[in-house]
Amino acid sequence: MTQSRRHATHEVLNQVPPLAGYDVADDAALLGAIRREGCGWAESELHELGVLAGTAATQELARLANVSKPVLRTHDARGYRIDEVDFHPSWHELMNTAVSHGLHAAPWADKTPATHVARAAKFFVWAQAEAGHGCPISMTYACVPALRHSPDLAARYEPLLASASYDPGLRPPEGKAGLLAGMAMTEKQGGSDVRANTTTAVPAGDGSYLLTGHKWFCSAPMCDLFLVLAQAPEGLTCFLLPRVLPDGSRNAMYIQRLKDKLGNCANASAEVEYDAAVAWPVGEPGRGVRTIINMVSATRLDCVLGSAAAIRQAAVIAASYAARRQAFGAPLIDHPAMTSVIADLTVESEAATTLAIRLAGAADRAARGDAAEAALLRVALPAAKYWVCKRTPVITAEALECLGGNGYVEDYSPMPRLLRDSPLNSIWEGSGNVTALDVLRALTTTPACADALLAEIDLAGGDRRAAAAAAGLRELLKAALGADSQRQARQLAGQITVTLQASLLARHAPAAIWDAFSSSRLGTAGGAGGSAGSVTGPGTPFGSLPDGLDLPAITARATVTTG
Ligand SMILES: Cc1cc2nc3c(=O)[nH]c(=O)nc-3n(C[C@H](O)[C@H](O)[C@H](O)COP(=O)(O)OP(=O)(O)OC[C@H]3O[C@@H](n4cnc5c(N)ncnc54)[C@H](O)[C@@H]3O)c2cc1C
Repeated sequence: MTQSRRHATHEVLNQVPPLAGYDVADDAALLGAIRREGCGWAESELHELGVLAGTAATQELARLANVSKPVLRTHDARGYRIDEVDFHPSWHELMNTAVSHGLHAAPWADKTPATHVARAAKFFVWAQAEAGHGCPISMTYACVPALRHSPDLAARYEPLLASASYDPGLRPPEGKAGLLAGMAMTEKQGGSDVRANTTTAVPAGDGSYLLTGHKWFCSAPMCDLFLVLAQAPEGLTCFLLPRVLPDGSRNAMYIQRLKDKLGNCANASAEVEYDAAVAWPVGEPGRGVRTIINMVSATRLDCVLGSAAAIRQAAVIAASYAARRQAFGAPLIDHPAMTSVIADLTVESEAATTLAIRLAGAADRAARGDAAEAALLRVALPAAKYWVCKRTPVITAEALECLGGNGYVEDYSPMPRLLRDSPLNSIWEGSGNVTALDVLRALTTTPACADALLAEIDLAGGDRRAAAAAAGLRELLKAALGADSQRQARQLAGQITVTLQASLLARHAPAAIWDAFSSSRLGTAGGAGGSAGSVTGPGTPFGSLPDGLDLPAITARATVTTG
């Protein structure tokens, strides 16, 4: 009998084991931020979810959900339209965890202070398991403030949207254990300019309307309810449209096809048509944008949280790999050029996380009637959505490169998926220009916004570098709110975000992080794009940190313990 033996030329050396078996919530910046926001009480739940997110089993669910893409079934075997989307069981398992941990609309049913912060932190942690299923989870969270514009609809559906039961399948919403909600605004001719929507809504005479038209992007089409914009006789109006009507019949919402997307592959994004579909108005007819903007604002917060989560995940994967992979006789992370790259990614991650959770705190307090926090959120949220989401693809690509060629390989790590998913948060809920222009709109229409923003930034006034950054922002605000302001909208949104991050890090971050951030990202001559005459600044590639920083103390913040 011949004995099989390992071929001598195929000895596997210097390969890094998969990063698994760690607590995703073992994140000092995150934990510090939630304690400041008054929700240290959520730490044990956060660690529970963090441990689950870091398991090899969850990572496998994430992989499967993305390689086994959702499949549309328009008709059944006998030719009847069914318009159902089949998901891999891994999708349902991820969704079940998200819903049962209250990442969807649960906080709206809970009066505990800082409950929205706890939910935000959990969303941040669980997004590091898989990002795509966060879409219906975010939309379900975000639809509640809009739905409350119609108290009778909110009374009927809010308890089910907040329920901890994941109950997939198309059945009358009233009889289900839990509901999910989506939104449909974007049409073929444009998504930014929703006032140009062509879908029509005709009063049916019983308080409902009949909607006819199409939506070019409608993600998670297996949701139970959708907020839809359509042109009613009164003007553009927000509607609640159920997939299944109270009598059990299917509403006339037809899924034409699913998009073949760059990333976000676990999630289904559909093109849909309505043929006299039944819907009820939400909020005042003719004031649809004002109503749905509440949903848009909440989903924008999740875009910031989701992007901050991707940045953290990318930094952790890169740091872990670089600590274990040897080159030229030493671990990669000990080579000064690589130490600088990992440190720079870590600094960016800490800034994004700290700001994201501060904004979640503002959202929590704004929801309880705090006007100053609402004003801060109104300007800081679109600014952060613009900047943090736009930074994510660059950071993800840099982190991927830390793994060299292995970073490019699908089954080696989640980095290829992270990179494919990374541009999305910047596109939906207001693409880059649109969110930057929204910052200008907030500042010009609501004077309280600038006051709230500067008051928050000035809290770090005792620090010389933070004070200089605040002075620079004041100058830019004066200049940018003039005649040609639209051209400067991106610069303004970027500089607002970086100055806010500076204020937060000056007050709350360890000295090593603050030193690195302030010496690399606060150049004034180049605005948010970098300092005059230097090659540092956020506009330059990562790893261009100046000398004299405590880089090991920084990279330690992205180092996790595996069990
Ligand atoms: C994966 C995915 C899922 C999605 N899911 C949904 C969904 O569930 N529901 C939904 O309603 N939509 C959804 N969308 C659509 C998304 O919200 C839109 O793509 C987005 O709002 C932009 O609209 P648009 O694609 O029509 O681009 P356009 O509006 O044509 O804009 C194109 C570009 O022009 C810029 N621009 C627009 N106006 C101005 C201006 N005044 N000044 C300067 N620049 C400007 C924009 O920033 C953008 O870069 C999804 C998109 C993706 C990619």
